[in-house]
Amino acid sequence: MRPAFYTSVGFQKKMTETAPETLAFQAEVSRLIDIVANALYAKREVFLRELVSNASDACDRLRYAALTEPGLLEGDPDLGIELQPDKAAGTLVVRDNGIGMNREDLVSNLGTIARSGTAQFLEQLGDKKGDVDLIGQFGVGFYSAFMVADRVVVDTRRAGDSQGWRWESDGRSGFTLAETDEAPARGTRITLHLKDDAKEYLEGARLREIVKTYSDHLAVPVRLVGEGEAERLNSEGALWTRPKSEITDENYKEFYHHVAHAFDDPWAWIHFKAEGVMEYTGLIFIPSTAPWDLFDPSRRHGVKLYVKRVFIAEGVESLVPPYLRFLRGVIDSEDLPLNVSRETLQHSPVLGRMKNALVKRVLADLEARAEKDPKDYETFWGVFGAILKEGLYEDPGQQESLLKLARFRSTKEEGWISLADYLSRMRPGQEKIYIITGDEVEALRRSPQIEGFAAKGVEVLLLTDPIDEFWPQVVGSYQGKQFQSVTRSSADLEAIEGQEEQARDEERAETLEGSELATLVAWLKTSLGEAVKDVRASKRLTTSPVCLVADEGDVDLHLARLLRQSKQGAPEAVRVLEINPSHPLIRRLASEVKDGKADKEQLADAAQLLLDQARIMEGEPPKDPSAFARRISGFIERGIA
Ligand code: ADP
Repeated sequence: MRPAFYTSVGFQKKMTETAPETLAFQAEVSRLIDIVANALYAKREVFLRELVSNASDACDRLRYAALTEPGLLEGDPDLGIELQPDKAAGTLVVRDNGIGMNREDLVSNLGTIARSGTAQFLEQLGDKKGDVDLIGQFGVGFYSAFMVADRVVVDTRRAGDSQGWRWESDGRSGFTLAETDEAPARGTRITLHLKDDAKEYLEGARLREIVKTYSDHLAVPVRLVGEGEAERLNSEGALWTRPKSEITDENYKEFYHHVAHAFDDPWAWIHFKAEGVMEYTGLIFIPSTAPWDLFDPSRRHGVKLYVKRVFIAEGVESLVPPYLRFLRGVIDSEDLPLNVSRETLQHSPVLGRMKNALVKRVLADLEARAEKDPKDYETFWGVFGAILKEGLYEDPGQQESLLKLARFRSTKEEGWISLADYLSRMRPGQEKIYIITGDEVEALRRSPQIEGFAAKGVEVLLLTDPIDEFWPQVVGSYQGKQFQSVTRSSADLEAIEGQEEQARDEERAETLEGSELATLVAWLKTSLGEAVKDVRASKRLTTSPVCLVADEGDVDLHLARLLRQSKQGAPEAVRVLEINPSHPLIRRLASEVKDGKADKEQLADAAQLLLDQARIMEGEPPKDPSAFARRISGFIERGIA
């Protein structure tokens, strides 16, 4: 079926098979080409990086296809890329003998925007056309050819096909497609008709310099051909097979851009060789920024699997666990058979062992970085911590190392802290690691449930990632200290020694006790009825009069809200209302209840308002907003009167 963007313009397709057919670009492509073609971008040399990178991918794909279909390589087994400048014609040719493209490939690849980098570029650019520096950051793939060329001809033949195709465009409204006999026997030849101000790309020296800068890492040879003997421009061998001493940071960064299709600089990389039972080389990158779809559960990791330098597959699930899906790079195995299929890979024990080793290596590397430069490590944690924490839930074998790597916000500091920091500051008598979950750190800092903890100098971890609702239960404890949510009724402060001033304050404070307290609690229970599970005197409140907590066995407060928001239809759990016996409002209410003289209806309204107030502090709406408004108005009126 033809996709929707596939609209013929200009004229009807002629009856002869060879007549060129004119097709329109997808609107985004026109916009993109318009931007790049007119951009006064200083570094437009990146067009060559993009074209050579595509050509290298095309060679990789052919090599993979040839594993099952060796005939594809017949007659021309050495894969490579050639650059051929022609000063007389004013053209630069970029040619590869890789996989090539058939008609469908051409229409969908060179007429629409397939790659995420290009889409991101357009998105970031928004309406401000001026910020063309982004071209270098994101790369705009094939279309960057129009930065230097006013006409681009692509002659290509898909490996194994007899028919060759010519795609041609001036980068304005669209492109033409025609059958051609001039396509290479296999692969793609791109002819750039260089603009007058782009003739520098006809100079061998300039091309040599550009390939060295951006494409030195490629495994396939990139050769300069033309007048004399062909000259290889990039270093020999795939980057990861070269000795570390011969690889510059710039080489690593450019390789990362190529392999990850990413345009940030990597935060870190690990280049290693495993020898012994298993033999493989790894070059693993940790990006510095999160891709936009990082939280998409279907997102695959970006580690490519090679076997003896042959690209096999990307995103193989059994190679990298989901909580490391931000990793990019290459694993090149010497042990797997070359003819391994993607299906058998999933169950390969070799892969399983490589995965375990990789996980260990990455986590150990992170730990070393955290020790060496804690501030720098925090920037990593800020970007990928939420993903890494999924491992606490998914990978019981790595809980210990992940808990060591984890960083948290807390009531005691503005920045990140580790669990080791937390344990070192526990109060005498404190047996648990206290946590609270919510949407935002700042809102959590103001939660009524942590008042009593703050007063006693007990630190509470403030957790705001969705996964934080789940891992504490699964993990249970760290170094013998149990994780305990402070919004659960079981979070008990009594055994913990407070600070001295607090003990003095408490002694001085007037507080409800004995029968007076019991009467108020009993009355509130009757008055609120089914709306609460229980009413209890609180130890965790100091300045707020009331708060809600989850009873043991009930879904915790924030999780219940998340489930409701995601429409998972969690049954609404009825909460325990805790009251603060030393709060003036509560004491006053107790005395009114005891006298029995106050207006019964007003007292009942007060009870409802206390409950609504507790709900509002949890970020929940009052149960019955109009009743809430009516009650508030009543109290305001009486207050003013
Ligand atoms: P990207 O390379 O990020 O996918 P491009 O716009 O550079 O985006 O290219 C779009 C697609 O066109 C590629 O994914 C690839 O399928 C195809 N393509 C580009 N150049 C070649 C080539 N030299 N050989 C085969 N396919 C190519």
